[in-house]
Amino acid sequence: MDLGIRGKVALVAAASRGLGRAIALELASEGAKLILCARGADTLDTARNVISTCTGVEVHTVVADLSKHEHIELVTTEAMARFGQVDILVTNAGGPPAGPFEAHDWAAWERAVNLTLRSAVELTRAVLPGMRQRHWGRIINVTSIAVKQPVNNLILSNSVRSAVTGFARTLANEVATDGVTVNNILPGYTRTERVEELADANARKEGLSRRDILARFESEIPMHRLGEPKEFAALAAFLASEQASYITGQSIAVDGGWIKSLL
Ligand code: NAD
Repeated sequence: MDLGIRGKVALVAAASRGLGRAIALELASEGAKLILCARGADTLDTARNVISTCTGVEVHTVVADLSKHEHIELVTTEAMARFGQVDILVTNAGGPPAGPFEAHDWAAWERAVNLTLRSAVELTRAVLPGMRQRHWGRIINVTSIAVKQPVNNLILSNSVRSAVTGFARTLANEVATDGVTVNNILPGYTRTERVEELADANARKEGLSRRDILARFESEIPMHRLGEPKEFAALAAFLASEQASYITGQSIAVDGGWIKSLL
């Protein structure tokens, strides 16, 4: 199926590895031009080289820390300077740190809000006027299964991603007549570097192997396996497509059945 996004410009945040990079690759495979950002110049360069070699599309990168407002401005300014517009925005960032309520003072909450909520809001603020003017836009936020079923020991993530969900659902209504859709994708346990690092850290703490920890994650998932980044990215590409023009305000999980609720 041709997704109808050849030549569109996609800004994918936090795309040097993991889910962001997988989404970028999928959009590029459909012919979208890319502007990517992340903190590490080396991994970002590698991502750009791999994606442009595999797909032949134009990929521009900006080294930026999404928890810093001035860096977000730099990313959107660069996107406009390079491509003149952004048609598809994917908001994404690293996850806030784990821990129970007592582990996080207010400064930690502020950092989580800046990284997760403010980055989504400010990236959107920069690109939305152009989308409304052209009567075409796709905003896709990477959140988490935690917004439908809180994950133990992740109070910051559970709380701040729910704020992103409220923001997106409300914005979807505000721009519904402007050809702009706003949706969230909720990753379940997906095999990215982050999840492997998390498994290694838990394994060291508990004197187990990475395989033992991953098996524990898998035991909670009806499909009994982790998701692959490509499976997650496929939904992002569809939501970015011409065909997804009547889907807005939704939070859709890609989780192998992990969320236990009916809706
Ligand atoms: P990852 O660690 O593999 O990749 C994260 C990306 O974000 C990297 O490119 C990294 O460079 C970038 N990044 C991190 N902090 C940044 C910052 N301050 N500024 C700019 N870039 C930054 O993680 P992932 O597995 O791809 O997860 C992506 C998001 O999805 C995270 O927020 C994560 O918490 C969430 N999530 C992931 C899973 C999963 O199983 N992979 C499950 C639920 C939620």
